[in-house]
Amino acid sequence: RHRRSLETGEMLFREGDGGHEAYVIESGCIEIFTGSLDSRRRIACLGRDEIFGEMTLLGGHTRLASAMATEPTTLIVISHEYLEERVLAADPLLRHLLRVVIARSRDNVLRLAQTVEQGGGMAGTAHAAADRQAALQHLRLEQAMATALERSEFQLHLQPIVRLRDGRPAGFEALIRWIRPDGSRVSPGEFIPVAEQSELIYVLGHWIIRESCRCLAELDRQVPGAAAFLSLNLSLRQFDDPALFPVLEAALADSGLDPRRLRLEITESMIARDADATLQLLQRCKALGAKLSVDDFGTGYSSLSYLQRLPVDCLKLDRSFIGELETSPAAARIVGAVARLAHDLGMETVAEGIETPGQAARCRELGVDYGQGFHWAPALPLDRAAQLLSR
Ligand code: C2E
Ligand code: CA
Ligand code: CA
Ligand code: CA
Repeated sequence: RHRRSLETGEMLFREGDGGHEAYVIESGCIEIFTGSLDSRRRIACLGRDEIFGEMTLLGGHTRLASAMATEPTTLIVISHEYLEERVLAADPLLRHLLRVVIARSRDNVLRLAQTVEQGGGMAGTAHAAADRQAALQHLRLEQAMATALERSEFQLHLQPIVRLRDGRPAGFEALIRWIRPDGSRVSPGEFIPVAEQSELIYVLGHWIIRESCRCLAELDRQVPGAAAFLSLNLSLRQFDDPALFPVLEAALADSGLDPRRLRLEITESMIARDADATLQLLQRCKALGAKLSVDDFGTGYSSLSYLQRLPVDCLKLDRSFIGELETSPAAARIVGAVARLAHDLGMETVAEGIETPGQAARCRELGVDYGQGFHWAPALPLDRAAQLLSR
């Protein structure tokens, strides 16, 4: 660590410079701005004890803004090497978490700069504070998740998917549950998006795949001959995981299951994001023998043309349509039309979020194959799912 002194008007660094140091202001004042000196847009004026420049600390980034002293200023320099030697080298987790935080704060600065540009300086500061809160929350959750994996706090629960023709469970959707030691639960809607922003989703995804196969094999043991199928959810990020296919392959082989009994759920929005890349990956999934379901169908604003190109076996009608089935004639027509379209293309349909007998009956009349929802059961622990299957 060393010190640095600047005169009034002296530049510390300029937008676009390379850099690998952060600074703490010991005395004086630093203005952070974008654009040229003459027509600059001020992002912040920093005083004593404030840290800046940290985005380049782990290397590989250029400065996003310029920094200039507006009065005689002294700084403490925190170098990349210092951080690396003293803290980071000892702890890979810390290094990873820091990268996440730094990536996040980098986004914040970009967003803040944008807001300032649009004349919303105060609002921008409020946003940055909210982002800082969110970043901390994110960090805590990410750390808690890593620990929870080690401590086996995750479980897969199984929600029955019922054949509407005869009302019998034909399969299950595996839904992850995080139950803390004190019995409290964290909703997947909260922690899955956080896991998706780091490589934790890989580790969690591997666990979900192995556990799904284990559950299906255990259902076979408890209810011989039922031959239920099991749907598991994949995240877009998992398609970047080089181990996704090896893990799927090994889990299928180890459990001795017929791969056709495994359904991989991907959401329509995943397809919309990158149809060509998704197509390639889905073809590899198909090559393993697994089936593919499009989840949240009808909400992704994607073009129907992908149905022609993707090897899809099943469409899961989003719960928003089912909720309006009994009150909106349009919703009923859409459900009926999707069921017909799916059948014409040789696909099956599942209606999700069925909560009333009326909705179940209506879906059946409209030609939907399967239903899933609280009308039958929520996601259940394995033993209760097996009981339901054996009835
Ligand atoms: P999803 O894949 O659309 O899952 C269906 C969600 O609807 C589940 O919420 C389920 O409990 C809930 N649900 C089922 N029936 C009904 C009903 O009749 N009414 C209502 N209101 N809700 C119903 P959950 O388990 O909280 O999961 C939320 C989301 O988190 C899932 O949405 C999925 O996107 C994600 N998720 C859950 N488990 C996993 C997992 O193992 N892996 C991945 N990648 N994502 C998961
Ligand atoms: Ca799903
Ligand atoms: Ca769904
Ligand atoms: Ca949904």
